[in-house]
Amino acid sequence: MGYREWHEAFARRHRRVVESLGELSDEELLDAFDYDRMKEEEPDFCLLYSQGKKCHEMEGLNCYFCGCPHFRFNDEGIDRVGEKIRYSLCAIDARDGKVFETGDAIHQDCSDCLLPHRRSFILRHFDRDWSRVMAKNGSTQDNI
Ligand code: SF4
Repeated sequence: MGYREWHEAFARRHRRVVESLGELSDEELLDAFDYDRMKEEEPDFCLLYSQGKKCHEMEGLNCYFCGCPHFRFNDEGIDRVGEKIRYSLCAIDARDGKVFETGDAIHQDCSDCLLPHRRSFILRHFDRDWSRVMAKNGSTQDNI
């Protein structure tokens, strides 16, 4: 699955959950996206839920910004780095961000970065429309 396809599928799932919880305040909505609740109440939201796994081992993992507003991607490639094509990057060059490389490609690796799963970060960027946050921050390939 390419970045664009993942982005669109996640946006649909996120919208569905937000709409089903429309009566909640912003803070309550954020609480509802807590990993432990989502795993029980929204088992189709993430493939990891049914396996009892987390993308990041941390207390209070929140799934609201599973897609981080600082992640940039382009399925056709953002730019060239030497002989390789870079397909994704971190716009703020986060301290715990890494890259992984294949023979001819470079991708951003966020596996050590907890930033978008922290409550304070989500509140700072909060919007009920996940796609709007991503577009506002330039996370879609249309905005690279
Ligand atoms: S933040 Fe992690 S556990 Fe939550 S939906 Fe995303 S990948 Fe799954």
